[in-house]
Amino acid sequence: MRILVANDDGIYSPGILALARAAARYGDVRIMAPDVEQSSMGHAITHSRPLSVKRTPIDGFDAYRVNGTPADCVALGLELWEGVEVVLSGINLGYNLGNSMWHSGTLAAAKQAALLGNRGIAFSTPTRGGEPDFERLAPYVQEVLDLLLPETSLDLVNVNLPPEPTRLCWARQSVRHYDGRVVAGEDPSGRKHFWVTVKPVEEVEEGTDRWAVRQGFVALTPLRLDLTDGDALKQARARNPLTEASSRASSTREA
Ligand code: MN
Repeated sequence: MRILVANDDGIYSPGILALARAAARYGDVRIMAPDVEQSSMGHAITHSRPLSVKRTPIDGFDAYRVNGTPADCVALGLELWEGVEVVLSGINLGYNLGNSMWHSGTLAAAKQAALLGNRGIAFSTPTRGGEPDFERLAPYVQEVLDLLLPETSLDLVNVNLPPEPTRLCWARQSVRHYDGRVVAGEDPSGRKHFWVTVKPVEEVEEGTDRWAVRQGFVALTPLRLDLTDGDALKQARARNPLTEASSRASSTREA
């Protein structure tokens, strides 16, 4: 099995090496990752300048650094290496829970794989001020891969590992609370500036990814690319039957 490994923390992050080592038990691994950190870049792609791919072997792994985004790396990786069966992204230094999935470059790399008809699995873990204990996480990453790699019907899964995992848990995305905030400050010259940062989310709903990691569970959240709100669409159609009106209009025209 050919496994492409990407991330958003950059090719020299310890997290990507931990993931590549875990993946190597299951097949041939190639690393394709941003040359510098691209965290919180979301699903950006580079379209106004060319990209370069430079070989950077890492700890015996066939690895390439790209002057682009996480999504660029996956698009390039799948273009340049035929027969990839799954793309793994991470292990990100920091959780990607709930609404932070909208900003996550780690998840975007996995999403890019799914967009291109491949499969993507994103892995994230908190840092708690220091480097995560990847040796402690390794058996759980392996358990996740044992479970998910044969599950070919799941083409996009977001995985969050707490620092001291106990077991695996299916979880839905928590969306009730958003942790993004802007904090104002002053630079040494007294000029006002702002930091876009996060605030801790205290409340958690049972069954969500946030709740799961708080219980010490590895949260596995299957995702889909279709963002359509089915209920809202149905209600909007009932209130304003635009489609019916326009299809009647066009059939009238055709007649
Ligand atoms: Mn990151």
